[in-house]
Amino acid sequence: MKFAARVSLIKPSPTLTIQAKANALKAAGRDIIGFGAGEPDFDTPQNIKDAAVRALAAGFTKYTPVGGIDELKDAVSAKLKRDNGLTYKRAEIVISCGAKHSLFNIAQVLFEQGDEVLIPSPYWVSYTDIVYLSGAQPVVITTDVRDNFKLQPAQLEAAITPRTRAIIISSPSNPAGVTYTLQELQALAEVIVRNKIMVVSDDIYEKIIYDGLPFYTLAQLSDELKQLSVVVNGVSKTYSMTGWRIGYAAGAEEVVAAITKYQSQNTSNPTSIAQKAAVEALNGPQESVEMMRTEFQRRRDVIVRKLNAIPGVSCLNPQGAFYVFPNVAAYYGRSFAGKTITNSAEMATYLLDESNVALVPGGDFGHDEHIRLSYATSMEQIERGTDRIGEALLKLR
Ligand code: PMP
Ligand code: GLU
Repeated sequence: MKFAARVSLIKPSPTLTIQAKANALKAAGRDIIGFGAGEPDFDTPQNIKDAAVRALAAGFTKYTPVGGIDELKDAVSAKLKRDNGLTYKRAEIVISCGAKHSLFNIAQVLFEQGDEVLIPSPYWVSYTDIVYLSGAQPVVITTDVRDNFKLQPAQLEAAITPRTRAIIISSPSNPAGVTYTLQELQALAEVIVRNKIMVVSDDIYEKIIYDGLPFYTLAQLSDELKQLSVVVNGVSKTYSMTGWRIGYAAGAEEVVAAITKYQSQNTSNPTSIAQKAAVEALNGPQESVEMMRTEFQRRRDVIVRKLNAIPGVSCLNPQGAFYVFPNVAAYYGRSFAGKTITNSAEMATYLLDESNVALVPGGDFGHDEHIRLSYATSMEQIERGTDRIGEALLKLR
């Protein structure tokens, strides 16, 4: 079969691939501990599910406006005002089928061949491929672990060329849980505004943030920055609604109009009843959000301590999201049963084969010395899984 060239520009999402592989092995009876999936292990809160059931019973099952129902746009607008101090009207908000879909649509309407899009690394696996699919060139800026993987203003400045169109930035980030302070964002903002590049701010982990740190998004720092920004967020992580596929983008009216036009020729509207559920998520009681956040923080404390206790492994303490990104390169070059581990993909395969632990190679996030573990799983699995990793690593000679 002859395929369009764009298909060979990208790879299957590594996170979703590992997740599927772990699930298949589990179904086949293997005692797999899954650190692969980047999705909360909690059920969607009952009030949100009830809202969807009510919508279904009421026959809210037809096409909705392409960019989402007004009720949901109003809930998003109120959220952006309440939580982020940002004012966006309906025409500046578009609802999509998940934050990934919003990011994809933004890239499709803003970027094209000849453009460069800056992506600090470690980065979420899909950013680069989403940029490739737009025809633009992703320009990866490798951050340093000694800077806690935070992009430095001088690095940003050095990466900007006349072709630079935008930067994709996320705080807290996936995979390293990098969470910028206000001062750090202000320093980056100065470079962004002076060079007039656009900002795609992926705020999906806004509510999963630890140690009492406040959340800031670049758009709230100044009017100029708001004009340059498209804010992306969604309900997947905050409300444990990964399967419902509701995300959104807020930005200049003309950008939102372009996304809505684009969306009208692919998915049309996001699922009608999921939109009603998202209204309840944003407007309803928020206790479950804090419950999940507290539990993630407890798990983070345990997993970071246990990983750092393995000789040769070093793991930063993430301040948000639900991933850890330890460096395991001390074990590269070592072997077990005649097989030498030389990179993160081989390490992930070894740990799956040898210790039944599923995780994602760091190379997929731009840092091959690392592996990524999601701790959106039970404390018991975290305890057992990290023990298994330690035992497997110590078998390498
Ligand atoms: N951004 C980041 C950084 C993510 O980790 C994810 C993972 N789901 C997404 C966006 C997409 O989320 P969704 O499409 O489920 O809203
Ligand atoms: N974002 C999650 C992850 O990084 C979910 C899967 C995906 O869409 O990548 O594992």
